Amino acid sequence: MLFPMSPKVVELKRRLENFMDRHIYPNEERFYREAEELGPWKVYPIVEELKPLARAEGLWNLFLPQSHHGAGLTNLEYAPLCEVMGRSHLAPEVFNCSAPDTGNMEVLERYGSEQDKERWLKPLLAGEIRSCFAMTEPAVASSDATNIESRIVRDGDHYVINGRKWYTTNATDPRCKICIFMGKTDPDNPDRHRQQSMILVPMDTPGIEVKRPLPVFGFYGVPDRASEVVFTDVRVPKENMLLGEGRGFEIAQGRLGPGRIHHCMRLIGLAERTLEKMCRRVRSRVAFGKPVSEQTVTQERIAEARIMIEQARLLTLNAASAMDTVGNKVARTEIAMIKVAVPNMACQVIDWAIQAHGGGGTSNDFGLTQAYATARLLRLADGPDEVHRNQIARLELKKYSNV
Ligand SMILES: Cc1cc2nc3c(=O)[nH]c(=O)nc-3n(C[C@H](O)[C@H](O)[C@H](O)COP(=O)(O)OP(=O)(O)OC[C@H]3O[C@@H](n4cnc5c(N)ncnc54)[C@H](O)[C@@H]3O)c2cc1C
Repeated sequence: MLFPMSPKVVELKRRLENFMDRHIYPNEERFYREAEELGPWKVYPIVEELKPLARAEGLWNLFLPQSHHGAGLTNLEYAPLCEVMGRSHLAPEVFNCSAPDTGNMEVLERYGSEQDKERWLKPLLAGEIRSCFAMTEPAVASSDATNIESRIVRDGDHYVINGRKWYTTNATDPRCKICIFMGKTDPDNPDRHRQQSMILVPMDTPGIEVKRPLPVFGFYGVPDRASEVVFTDVRVPKENMLLGEGRGFEIAQGRLGPGRIHHCMRLIGLAERTLEKMCRRVRSRVAFGKPVSEQTVTQERIAEARIMIEQARLLTLNAASAMDTVGNKVARTEIAMIKVAVPNMACQVIDWAIQAHGGGGTSNDFGLTQAYATARLLRLADGPDEVHRNQIARLELKKYSNV
């Protein structure tokens, strides 16, 4: 094995899988039903019922690499555990390991003041509140974050914030109490990467209007509570500025590395689960005189899916190991590579599973439509494929700068 698990991780994984069997899989149907019936503005009771159980079993905050707040795991150690959680849409939040809270907690831990940590990090780590990250804007191509237009203007002891954001995951959640907002403090700075800042904005500040939930392929709430939010003359104390004016990109780099790898780890789990469903289904259905599993086209797809999942997992573990050993900045090629490879792999595997399920694959009964929505949205969220490919190519070509 290229990346063997330590005894500590083997034991945590065993306990996690056991919890999944006892509490997560048996409650998935209820979770999807609650999400559908209650919609994106409500808390789903099943999640709140299960969180204390996970916490009591020590299966809580397993992310946060090398931190005294979490389980003290490295990215490489966390990878197989995050993969297990990714097998179900219900699981990550139950273990307090869901996006965008994990990324936001990492930002608060790294860049927040002691007061910020006390006021926001503590309740987030306790799973008492949730958070959002507002960067993307409807008016500009936000994959190029230098385009972001929202303004953060200093006014005495305060900053005044104006802007329209969308795809702000979590903003419709009534437990969402804090927003990490990205906007321009210095729009005329000749260095476009010094124009942006990030600032903490409590969600109950006057002037914030959560306009509407946005469906993701028709789904509201699960797999994502995407929302549109308008900020009008929102006034926050100057101490809410993170790290300092003009340092938004620096924070974004720190935040998006771990966020991206967590998405990939979870997607590998989702692809594994999907392949399991596909194998069970094709063994149980007979068409034209033999089980669908005996059609060579089915076998070819299953074999290809297995190869693609293993490749994606190795690439992801390699990126996790690089982040642990050389840091997120140096590991940016590895992170960019998995961010392209894994969602594309998952889309293909889920697509084959939908096909193998026949018409039922397009219903919500098998969890495949939600799985596909998740994999497909991740070809866009945290940067579209093209932007990551450009970065990989740029770094590759740099090796030949003297040619
Ligand atoms: C479900 C979901 C949840 C999200 N959650 C959040 C969140 O919590 N917070 C947040 O701030 N954002 C969030 N996002 C937004 C996401 O990060 C952006 O959608 C993404 O960065 C792309 O920005 P854009 O939508 O403005 O697309 P644009 O920038 O308009 O790009 C459109 C397309 O142009 C093409 N393109 C862009 N650049 C290049 C290039 N260099 N080369 C070739 N082609 C290119 C790509 O095909 C790209 O998809 C979420 C998105 C989704 C779908």
